[in-house]
Amino acid sequence: SEQMLRQSEKLALIGELSAGVVHEIKNPLTSIKGFLQLMQAGTIKTTDYISILNTEIERIEQIANDLLGFAKPVEELKAQNIGKIIDSVVFLLNAQSRNHKIDLIWNGTKKTHLILGDESQMKQVFVNLIKNAIEASEDNEHVEILLFEKEEKVFIQIKDNGCGIPADKLDQVGDSFFTTKEKGTGLGLMVTRKIIHNHKGEMSINSQENVGTTFTVILPKYK
Ligand code: ADP
Ligand code: MG
Repeated sequence: SEQMLRQSEKLALIGELSAGVVHEIKNPLTSIKGFLQLMQAGTIKTTDYISILNTEIERIEQIANDLLGFAKPVEELKAQNIGKIIDSVVFLLNAQSRNHKIDLIWNGTKKTHLILGDESQMKQVFVNLIKNAIEASEDNEHVEILLFEKEEKVFIQIKDNGCGIPADKLDQVGDSFFTTKEKGTGLGLMVTRKIIHNHKGEMSINSQENVGTTFTVILPKYK
């Protein structure tokens, strides 16, 4: 069945990914283990190293969070009001954007725009895209989220006026482990693209270095 096929595609991709993931997780684990041994031996003062341990654990947590979309089994697809999903993601990310003095401009919607999808996977898509937009922006900039329907399709756009993506890097964006961030995992867009693909949708990127980036997600409208 289609679902089994999707499941096996997923497993194949997990196989490809796991070598990289193991590598990424081994580094912080080695560091945690080393510090714990030094603490146990009394060589170092515990309190000085707690924040390092915490950073390393957060790193592993971030990798796990970014991979969640794969680990989760495919659930039954249901009609989802995409505006409500975006509402909840914007609510969730408001704290982070406020810390950076970045306004999330989302006017919500009175209209219902239905798609056929998995709610938590769809949330992950917009968390990833909006987080990236916030991370690409300087303080006091804004990120705009648009939602509209055209020709039986639902369009969602996330626009920022941030650092942009250099033309020669555009191809690599979304490859597993491609990141330009010190603490990035390079897994977010790869998972995002995969989820959108599983929902029979598409994603395009329009970006100009030092001007900004627009991600457009197009999903079939549910009737
Ligand atoms: P991560 O956020 O962990 O780096 P992602 O897969 O989410 O991994 O993104 C990969 C890379 O794509 C980022 O490191 C960044 O270079 C680029 N990128 C993604 N979104 C944006 C954006 N809105 N503006 C500029 N660059 C972006
Ligand atoms: Mg990201």
